[in-house]
Amino acid sequence: MLDAIIVGGGISGLRCAIEFARQGVSYKLCESNDHFGGRCSSQYFDGFVLDRGFQVLLDSYTEVTSLIELDSLNFKTFMSGAMVHTSRGNRFLLDPSKDKRKLWAFWKMLTSDVGTFRDKWRLFRLKMQKGLERTQRTESASVADYLAGSFTSRFNSEFMSPFWESVFLADLQSVPATHFFELFPFFASGSGGLPENGMQAIPDSMVDLLDKNQLVLNKAAKQITENAVEFEDGELIAAKNVVLAVPYSKAQDLLAADDKNHHGRKASCIYYEAPEPPFELPILFLTGCDQKFVRTVSIPTNLHAGYSSNGNALICVGLAPGLDANQAEIRAETKNVLRELFSAVVDDWQVITHMQIPDALPPIDCKPLFPTDSISVCGDYLSVPSINNALGSGRATALRVIETL
Ligand SMILES: Cc1cc2nc3c(=O)[nH]c(=O)nc-3n(C[C@H](O)[C@H](O)[C@H](O)COP(=O)(O)OP(=O)(O)OC[C@H]3O[C@@H](n4cnc5c(N)ncnc54)[C@H](O)[C@@H]3O)c2cc1C
Repeated sequence: MLDAIIVGGGISGLRCAIEFARQGVSYKLCESNDHFGGRCSSQYFDGFVLDRGFQVLLDSYTEVTSLIELDSLNFKTFMSGAMVHTSRGNRFLLDPSKDKRKLWAFWKMLTSDVGTFRDKWRLFRLKMQKGLERTQRTESASVADYLAGSFTSRFNSEFMSPFWESVFLADLQSVPATHFFELFPFFASGSGGLPENGMQAIPDSMVDLLDKNQLVLNKAAKQITENAVEFEDGELIAAKNVVLAVPYSKAQDLLAADDKNHHGRKASCIYYEAPEPPFELPILFLTGCDQKFVRTVSIPTNLHAGYSSNGNALICVGLAPGLDANQAEIRAETKNVLRELFSAVVDDWQVITHMQIPDALPPIDCKPLFPTDSISVCGDYLSVPSINNALGSGRATALRVIETL
């Protein structure tokens, strides 16, 4: 009998498998999809690399860097900070400590009218971990409360809110401040970037560390018992331990949880192909919250030309959460907003795909699941969702299972 069977080949399941392989545990990993990576993946379509929504890997993610040599992925980082659209024009807000042109970035930061001097000083203090006094941690119920108590409303509406909304994929009033305190240090100490071949390179390089004979694609678990998994194709695989590395909604189903919460956080974006990028810098563009359709614009080809094989620019437009309109309407309104931001050049942009990801992140209030002695769970929903925490959860779960063997 196998020591363990892992259900789910996202990055948490793969990380769990790597730990088993390292410690000589016999296992099989079964993934329902035709590729590994789950939500951390890419599609290769018509010569373009389309990540599953706009995602970035932070070079401060220690769970990743302790496993994968980022240079081997040809990982490159975006400029730290953002270009911010305001009613007064586009403004840079950069982190001079991370920019190659430190003096230029420092000057841009200092003279930017996004935020007062006090806002920038508080952000700097926060970055140095001095702003997180215990009282602030406990008194701020939500991220919105914390930001409102710490920065001016203009700084929040032009920079902090659109940025953190695009990280948490939710209204910041609904996100506990603790989630911000957990993720902020990674952003403060690291830079976000992309592997040359897209986010899929992360699970692909994890698969390279494993014996392919133990990995099975297109195999969906139907139900689980203490020591076996029954698959949709009728096969039953027995194992001493079952590790569920599936998304929260699926884990609830397989564990027959009471009182299910299937309201995951949605993300949507439109990928465009354009003869020229609207700006050349590898930087995140924040559109501000004064219109209801577009939140971010990123241009992966400004970082890696190989995201497009025909020399055209690949542009990823992140849409606001919870848009209540049909796809055609959303595309038309998005084009109008983009025309205002970047002028009539956007009329030459062609839609490649309008990606809608219903369960991009787990619900904010995930109720605890109740695995048993021989059934374990891992996945990003066990803490604040991120690539780093998904990997950490896979590793920790593997170690717990190994202790029982
Ligand atoms: C649009 C978007 C943007 C994001 N941005 C960022 C970012 O910038 N930075 C960051 O750190 N994180 C980001 N994330 C979050 C990050 O991608 C996830 O936290 C992480 O990939 C979750 O990994 P996981 O293994 O826990 O879950 P998943 O990736 O969901 O893996 C679960 C796997 O289980 C499989 N499965 C499901 N049901 C079955 C079944 N019955 N049988 C077998 N297999 C099954 C699924 O196919 C999937 O492969 C983003 C996510 C999205 C979607």
